[in-house]
Amino acid sequence: MLDQDLKNKLVAAVGADGFQDQPEVLYSFSYDAHFEESRPDAVVFPESTTEVSAVLGLADQAGIPVTARGSGTSICGAPIPKQQGIVLAMTKMNRILEVSPRDRCVRVQPGVVNQDLQTELAGHGFFYPPDPASLSVSTIGGNLAQNAGGPRGLKYGVTKDYIMGLEVVLASGRIIRFGSKNVKDVTGYNFAPLFCGSEGTLGIVTEAILRVVPLPEARRTVMATYQDLADTANTVAEVIASGIVPVAMELMDKFVINAVEDAAGLGLPRQAEGLLLIEVDGVEEAVEKEMARIAEKARENGATNIKEARTREEQDDLWRGRRSAYGVMARMAPNCIVEDATVPVSRVPEMIEGMREIFVRHGLRVGILAHAGDGNMHPLISTDVRDKEEWQRVEKAIREVFELAVRLEGTLSGEHGIGLAKSEFLSMFLDQATLETTRDIKRALDPNNILNPGKFC
Ligand SMILES: Cc1cc2nc3c(=O)[nH]c(=O)nc-3n(C[C@H](O)[C@H](O)[C@H](O)COP(=O)(O)OP(=O)(O)OC[C@H]3O[C@@H](n4cnc5c(N)ncnc54)[C@H](O)[C@@H]3O)c2cc1C
Repeated sequence: MLDQDLKNKLVAAVGADGFQDQPEVLYSFSYDAHFEESRPDAVVFPESTTEVSAVLGLADQAGIPVTARGSGTSICGAPIPKQQGIVLAMTKMNRILEVSPRDRCVRVQPGVVNQDLQTELAGHGFFYPPDPASLSVSTIGGNLAQNAGGPRGLKYGVTKDYIMGLEVVLASGRIIRFGSKNVKDVTGYNFAPLFCGSEGTLGIVTEAILRVVPLPEARRTVMATYQDLADTANTVAEVIASGIVPVAMELMDKFVINAVEDAAGLGLPRQAEGLLLIEVDGVEEAVEKEMARIAEKARENGATNIKEARTREEQDDLWRGRRSAYGVMARMAPNCIVEDATVPVSRVPEMIEGMREIFVRHGLRVGILAHAGDGNMHPLISTDVRDKEEWQRVEKAIREVFELAVRLEGTLSGEHGIGLAKSEFLSMFLDQATLETTRDIKRALDPNNILNPGKFC
């Protein structure tokens, strides 16, 4: 609980409008898209780095937990204030401060919504490659803290690949800045990768310089459908092995195809066991050649139909269908658990086969969705956590999926992060020495353990 003196000081730091502790507000900041709940004692809405620094300074002295929050779209419980305290809602710091096409970078505040940045950049002939399916809602700060990826990760990489510089407020309130607009910059430690993906446990990002990329001259999207899910997975492994680097290779199984079709009516083939959405971009001639080679690989691996989106609208429709898949599945049952185990792309066929066997054996309703080109699996488990018996089967199945990922040299999370949902599995993937070093870094930067405590390490 916050005492009145601390509340008064917080109000003085962020203004009366920037402080809220009404029960209905606390309730709405107690969740993310995961299903646990923990209410904070107060929510503050800073509007500047100075205000963030003042709030952290006060909280650190009082030993009160502070959990940063963007749009709350995390699906692993990362922004849930597990130990109550203060939620630092970053949504008012939402300005695009500078667009520098000549230096191929932007400078933004953390509350900028990813889609708003894309829209602004498109006007300059550029884009920002990290494209989580939540991009119309999620913030750059949340994307940075989760090292978010998306379908384009296959060719363009993920958030960490686009950070040129950050301004971060540490737990004590100290403000640090590193990196710059320079493409080459080795002045000092390379801090950015430490903060990227740290889920708000090491510092609060208050400004970011991000690399941006010119829009490609040409873009092609095709949909390949299969009567056998194994053929779908084999196509992915073979296309990547052949040296082609598509922008995206997204896989959906029959369950997901039908769920999306029920909701969106895009004319997806309901009878297909598997579907690949494949996109390539670049200069016109190269795109033509690559698409022809991909179509050949798809046919060799049993694709029964290959359909190209002919217009921009058709491309957008296909992507809208893909992006809606999680939301659509989430409406089918009280809970939809989306997992994120990731394997080297050559092991995708084994992973998909193995996951299917696990879910069938446990009698669960699961749709398989995957950023398959980079090995990132998103099984969507339709369930009701109130059904204790079914929930036990879900938990067993999830553990078995991670055990399978370990055997296939995979990893616990490709992009969704650890949060509350996956912390119990960390030791399956990180050894003791690595976990202890993680805790050492946390202690060095946040000695009073106020930043998003109870997470990650
Ligand atoms: C429908 C749907 C689809 C999704 N698709 C994808 C996908 O394709 N790829 C993907 O990677 N993820 C995806 N996600 C997960 C989620 O959208 C991402 O993790 C996103 O980056 C979270 O952004 P946010 O603004 O909602 O952050 P929040 O959920 O509010 O917070 C996430 C974490 O960031 C921390 N944080 C927030 N702002 C700051 C800051 N300024 N400084 C320090 N820490 C901060 C929080 O403390 C928390 O730990 C999806 C989620 C949904 C609901």
